[in-house]
Amino acid sequence: MSHELRTPLTGILGYAEILRGDRTLTERQSHGVSVIRQSGEHLLTLINDILDFARIEAGKLELSVTEIPVARLLRVIADIIRVRAEEKQLAFSCDIAPDLPPAVLADERRLRQVLLNLLANAVKFTDRGEVSLRVSFSPPARLRFEVRDTGIGISEDRWERIFQPFEQAGDVQHRLGGTGLGLAISRELLRLMGSDIEIESRLGEGSAVCFELDLPVVQAHAAAAISESVVTGYEGPRRTILVVDDVAANRMVLGDMLAPLGFEMAEAANGREGLEKAQSLRPDLILMDSVMPETDGLEATRRLRQLPGLGEVAIIAISANASGTNEATARAAGRMRSCPSRST
Ligand code: ADP
Repeated sequence: MSHELRTPLTGILGYAEILRGDRTLTERQSHGVSVIRQSGEHLLTLINDILDFARIEAGKLELSVTEIPVARLLRVIADIIRVRAEEKQLAFSCDIAPDLPPAVLADERRLRQVLLNLLANAVKFTDRGEVSLRVSFSPPARLRFEVRDTGIGISEDRWERIFQPFEQAGDVQHRLGGTGLGLAISRELLRLMGSDIEIESRLGEGSAVCFELDLPVVQAHAAAAISESVVTGYEGPRRTILVVDDVAANRMVLGDMLAPLGFEMAEAANGREGLEKAQSLRPDLILMDSVMPETDGLEATRRLRQLPGLGEVAIIAISANASGTNEATARAAGRMRSCPSRST
């Protein structure tokens, strides 16, 4: 189901992003595009929450643990929340211990989700004053995260209730835009990580929501620096990209994003057509949708690998349902016989 729910948003968010960079738009039109983008992102969050919750209920939520540069993750999160706090004229402070390990093993996406949810709640339920994030470290491996606000607070008899799914304790004004699933999901995610949420709050006096995690510390490899620059093109000979996707809107979004950078774009609407075009065009890269009727992306990829001259072509799987299991299956389908480590 996640595929069906997310696919229409690819078209909406993709084109909103493309139009955002269009300098010919009037001020009113750019404002309209920004409303489309924000509403689309909001809808995506709601859909993701509902899907996560369904996964939790079915006992199917999995963590995907990798090495993460934790200070950088926290800075990115703080930047997002600072903007939201400023919009409400709230002060935001972020106090990250200077002795944090360079990298830890954790599920980056899920840790980000929990922190963003707690911080977004802090901003949402605070009308004046301050929101803060404090992260401290106790060797050998314990990180403590504290989110505080000076907002409307929660009376003690509701502390447990707000973790129930679909439970919203605030007044109507503060309930807007929420599903009442954020805390239920955050608690389950933290339990999967071997932790839990502590809450300390007084009605009218603000809240503190905290959790601790034992995360294995690793020596950071030269973590790829986040590039702030906007890509406008590339040097060298023109490269051809073949997009294989059954949804026309997805092919159009990718084409309209990549053609302006100088790529020669080609399209195929299913795996069979993808195989034919790959043979005739010899693209430099194939963007392959995983789920398609008839020959799906995985099957098409396996067959591609058997074809003369295409055994090593770069293939990137694209999916509206990117879970750890699906990633492993996609990687296995694209494994190259001669050079497995380069397969995608
Ligand atoms: P949502 O934010 O979508 O309503 P959550 O599960 O994140 O759902 O939160 C459930 C409820 O807990 C909220 O509706 C609100 O009543 C209460 N709540 C959560 N965080 C705070 C906070 N920082 N201050 C006051 N109330 C909060």
